[in-house]
Amino acid sequence: MALVTMRQLLDEAAKGGYGVGAFNVNNLEQVQAIMEAAQETNSPVIIQASRGARKYANDRFLYHLMVAAEEVYPEIPVSLHQDHGNGPDTCRSAIELGFTSVMMDGSLEEDGKTPSSFEYNVRVTREVVEMAHERGVTVEGELGTLGGIEDGHGSGVVALTDPDQAVEFVEQTGVDALAVAIGTSHGAYKFTKEPDREILAMHIIEEINEWLPTTHLVMHGSSSVPKELVDIINEYGGEIRPTWGVPVNEIQAGIEHGVRKVNVDTDLRLAATGAIRKAFAEKPGEFDPRYYLKPAREAMKAVVKARMEAFGQAGHAGDYEPISLGDMAVRYREEGHKLTTA
Ligand SMILES: [Zn+2]
Repeated sequence: MALVTMRQLLDEAAKGGYGVGAFNVNNLEQVQAIMEAAQETNSPVIIQASRGARKYANDRFLYHLMVAAEEVYPEIPVSLHQDHGNGPDTCRSAIELGFTSVMMDGSLEEDGKTPSSFEYNVRVTREVVEMAHERGVTVEGELGTLGGIEDGHGSGVVALTDPDQAVEFVEQTGVDALAVAIGTSHGAYKFTKEPDREILAMHIIEEINEWLPTTHLVMHGSSSVPKELVDIINEYGGEIRPTWGVPVNEIQAGIEHGVRKVNVDTDLRLAATGAIRKAFAEKPGEFDPRYYLKPAREAMKAVVKARMEAFGQAGHAGDYEPISLGDMAVRYREEGHKLTTA
């Protein structure tokens, strides 16, 4: 069993100077694609589930798929992470389910839509930190809001993270990782042209990293939306409008400045959809779901492998032994929420 806390996984990434992809799952083929990619590149990995995923798959099914992943691949360190928890109750149920990490997204109110006040965000995040650290579980918070709405989550309004506030937020909450808003969006339609460093507000990451060098930064909405994946969908009858994502080289620049977790979801969705559309078009007489789910799984795996290599996590799966949740809980108790040593 190589279930690890996200705190340990990101501490190790900081030591090694690399980033770790966090990939969203709803079903079997996604879990398999991610784990095969992790094994083939020898990478530690974060598998995450949104509230929408937990609802779609059902908590027990989803949890056991993730447990199967660590049983089948015992040599791969895996963190199971709740993506965008909308309140302490969602985080609590994820912890009870067995997740080793939770995101308390207090940048929005409990409806997952309305931008919240700084005070509200600190209060709910602090509450989750107390509850989670007591059990050794990692907490990611968010300050500022991203564009786009996914799985019904998001205000659709971009509010960039204020670096001064970020320092205050981390000190008051004790989060292990902080999601920052630098102008990216959830979903496929992030930018109407290739984004440069200004549009991406990379300076926010650099500033926060300078002031909070031991806080692990998280980039959300970081799919690259490769043109070749969009082209396959459109070639086989899809209708994806011209769009741009976050270039891989900008993510790599972020990793040089403290970004340790990189959320990628859309690119896997695009890869799967293109492969399925192609399979349908090529053999319209086929009706065995394995005929189109297998190429979908392969296409997702190829994307995940490419990201693992680009983020630098490839080759690092065997670097460390997992620290148990119980031992992590002891460390938080003895050293405080902001652990003093990595
Ligand atoms: Zn997100």
